[in-house]
Amino acid sequence: MEAATCVHIEGIKSVKTAKKRECEECVRIGSDWVHLRTCQTCGKTHCCDSSPNKHASKHALSSSHPVVASAEPGERWLYCYPDEAYIEY
Ligand SMILES: [Zn+2]
Ligand SMILES: [Zn+2]
Ligand SMILES: [Zn+2]
Repeated sequence: MEAATCVHIEGIKSVKTAKKRECEECVRIGSDWVHLRTCQTCGKTHCCDSSPNKHASKHALSSSHPVVASAEPGERWLYCYPDEAYIEY
């Protein structure tokens, strides 16, 4: 992993990947999403800020789970919401 940019990202030893390629909140309400992000605290997968419901950022705020990884094929990066820190790995 490259040099991390915040304490939350530095604390991640192995990146959690999506168990299912779907936003579990959107599935529940019957909505659509654009891209998927996997929470690095609890491993749940939610939709990105380009999606109508922005479940990943809502989850980060409401659960205080700061870091997500992209769940998109071929994308290998982490993002920390409170620090707006981004790294590729
Ligand atoms: Zn951070
Ligand atoms: Zn969603
Ligand atoms: Zn979480």
